[in-house]
Amino acid sequence: MEYSSIVEVYEEISSTTKRLEITEYLRRLFEKTPKEIIDKVVYLTQGKLYPDYYGIELGIAEKLAVKAIALASGATEKSVAEELNRLGDIGEVASLFIGKKSQVTLFREPLTVKRVYETLDKIAKATGEGSQDLKIKLLSSLLSDATPAEAKYIVRTVTGRLRLGVADMTILDGLAEAFCGSKDFRPELERAYNLTSDLGMVAKAVSEKGLEGIKNFRISVGKPIRPMLAERLSSVEEILLKVGGRCVAEYKYDGERLQAHKIQDKVLLFSRRLENITHHYPDACELIKSNVKASEAIVECECVAVNVDTGEMMPFQELMHRRRKYDIEEAMKLYPVSLFMFDLLYVDGEDYTVKPYLERRKRLEEIVEESERIKLSKAIITSDIKELEKFFEEAVEAGCEGLMIKSVSPDSIYKAGARGWLWIKYKRDYQALLTDTVDLVAVGAFHGRGKRAGTYGALLMAVYDKKNDVFKTVCKLGSGFTDEDLAKLPTMFKELIIPHKHPRVDSEVEADVWFVPKIVLEVIGAEITLSPIHTACKNIVREGSGLAIRFPRFTGKYRDDKAAEDATTEEEILEMYQRQLKKIEA
Ligand code: ATP
Repeated sequence: MEYSSIVEVYEEISSTTKRLEITEYLRRLFEKTPKEIIDKVVYLTQGKLYPDYYGIELGIAEKLAVKAIALASGATEKSVAEELNRLGDIGEVASLFIGKKSQVTLFREPLTVKRVYETLDKIAKATGEGSQDLKIKLLSSLLSDATPAEAKYIVRTVTGRLRLGVADMTILDGLAEAFCGSKDFRPELERAYNLTSDLGMVAKAVSEKGLEGIKNFRISVGKPIRPMLAERLSSVEEILLKVGGRCVAEYKYDGERLQAHKIQDKVLLFSRRLENITHHYPDACELIKSNVKASEAIVECECVAVNVDTGEMMPFQELMHRRRKYDIEEAMKLYPVSLFMFDLLYVDGEDYTVKPYLERRKRLEEIVEESERIKLSKAIITSDIKELEKFFEEAVEAGCEGLMIKSVSPDSIYKAGARGWLWIKYKRDYQALLTDTVDLVAVGAFHGRGKRAGTYGALLMAVYDKKNDVFKTVCKLGSGFTDEDLAKLPTMFKELIIPHKHPRVDSEVEADVWFVPKIVLEVIGAEITLSPIHTACKNIVREGSGLAIRFPRFTGKYRDDKAAEDATTEEEILEMYQRQLKKIEA
């Protein structure tokens, strides 16, 4: 098959935004494509060479493309770069220069899809010394034999800028029309795609054997399954109605979703977008390997960074260190991850996606050996609004985003690749709403572990209730301390330690050590949330709940200039909470 026949279709697709027309162009393209290469044609049409999870990406630098265009057209690099400045689109620039050149080329060998694909593949895989030169040479050899239109699309593809805007679902429509006779069969194709995340593989199977070809598609360990997604509602009442009155509510951890594939003693990890991110989390792989008791399994979990010294869950941003290759070792030491398992898709030959949620959860409980660092997501089964609200507050208190509410009906299967009402997220968006600092009094402390052994892991902090002259707790403070600060804490509080809770302290939290309220620290937090355990503003906003500062951080300032009674008051915290609500509503 000649590459020009694909390019013709690209031109047609680029000239419209109508999905029906695009589908029609694709149908024609697929029908005329030889079956042996239809997978490659599908990948190319999406600007790729492989399904995403292979992790092989096109995307050479524009600078290299400029060199290749110069080499192939005989123009100077400078003039190519100038045109790029003027036109802004490297594809148009390639077309222009190859156009000028082709006036003098009488004989050229038509490019085939196979040759374009194989050359692009070599370019994508070239690494190490001399690879830049090799890439330029390979690309310019293609361009030398290309028509101006072909050059445009080759260069766009190789620089990662093809962007025809053809969605996965439109490709499936095109395939259904070409090989099943109608778009009505898209759901069958979609199912095959959801199970394998590989459009090329679906294309090949359906082009060879029609619907029969995909009927037997099964989950296979090592190929990521497209994730099930949740709808969102903002009231517990509505959520309960939607899921039929009874549900499983789970902590919604604020980390990174991982789909872990265990194959004997090998583990692969895929992200929410199904990239292979195994190498970001060697610690997570170890946990799966040792604590998932099955030879082969596909499980889903949320991976959360944890502060080694305090055991607290850290905000999602801490995982970003894992994105940089050289930081992973360091990040593993500072913030090792904990895993919270929330679903089971496959175990030892058995497809669990077709089973209702409670059955999946039960089996998950059986195969996961829990430890400090790998646990099942915290869950309750309930039909009670009050209980749900309480559980929500607890979740937020623990550093989670809110709750995932899951249907327990007999049809609550794992719907791969679908967003639906079987899962509903209930959260308040995490926003840095608290821009003021607060001054809080230390009323107690918790012993440190690990690096913090011998000092405190966290302090129990309180605001001042003027009317009753007591100190009420608002948070545990464990972040923001330097090593020096930490080393000093025991001496600093030595004189203030008392064997029991101070009579002027109102706390439902049991500290390991109690202090006379005296030392004031400046703290910054992310927001103020309802809390089931802290006593500040208890029963004011909601019966049974107090207010807490979420993600508190010591700013480094000891407010020696303030007495305990000068600390932020309970009224001020209430005002801040109300102001924050207004901001959210606005
Ligand atoms: P979405 O994934 O729905 O497009 P998003 O990427 O913004 O949206 P969220 O709105 O945070 O994600 O909600 C869904 C995510 O919540 C899941 O993808 C998963 O990573 C995470 N999560 C945390 N805890 C759980 C749990 N117990 N069950 C299911 N998902 C959970």
